[in-house]
Amino acid sequence: GIGSNQAMDEVQPVELIQRAFAALALLSDYPLLVSSLWESTPLDCPPGSPRFINAVAAMRPRQLTPLQLLKSLQQIEADFGRFRGPERNAPRTLDLDILSFGEVLMQDAKLTLPHPRMQERAFVLKPLLEIAPHYSIPGMKCPADALARQIVGQGSLTLINFSKSL
Ligand code: AMP
Repeated sequence: GIGSNQAMDEVQPVELIQRAFAALALLSDYPLLVSSLWESTPLDCPPGSPRFINAVAAMRPRQLTPLQLLKSLQQIEADFGRFRGPERNAPRTLDLDILSFGEVLMQDAKLTLPHPRMQERAFVLKPLLEIAPHYSIPGMKCPADALARQIVGQGSLTLINFSKSL
């Protein structure tokens, strides 16, 4: 799950997400499958936070364990100028979350799989369903499209372009 609501130098979130696709493709030994870009209302963010650009990508990580993948994603975030300050959910140049990793279920200090809040976020489920319409979150009985239909009251979520593969 990919999000950005802050420019890095002069590079705007839409361009950052497209560059993040290219960085993720290097970690995958199968062509990266990417959703459209969506613009969403910030949720649980400080007042006045800019709107987010969100997307989802599916990959087959090159011989990486889930924790190794997390480390690689955090390195990409750092390369994209991600700064972790004290304020929760402050604007960020790039946020990369692992939504699920095959059927792996895990919960440790660094990583929870599947991502614990993905089922309640339209800005995750809508792009995910574009690239995996029959997806079910590992460990959950209800398919993701049914979960997405239950979500209400998260502001607006707008498609801003069409998907393309790298
Ligand atoms: P954030 O500031 O939202 O990027 O949160 C990142 C923190 O959440 C990191 O310290 C990770 O160790 C932790 N985390 C737990 N589960 C996940 C996950 N599935 N994907 C990404 N980060 C995770």
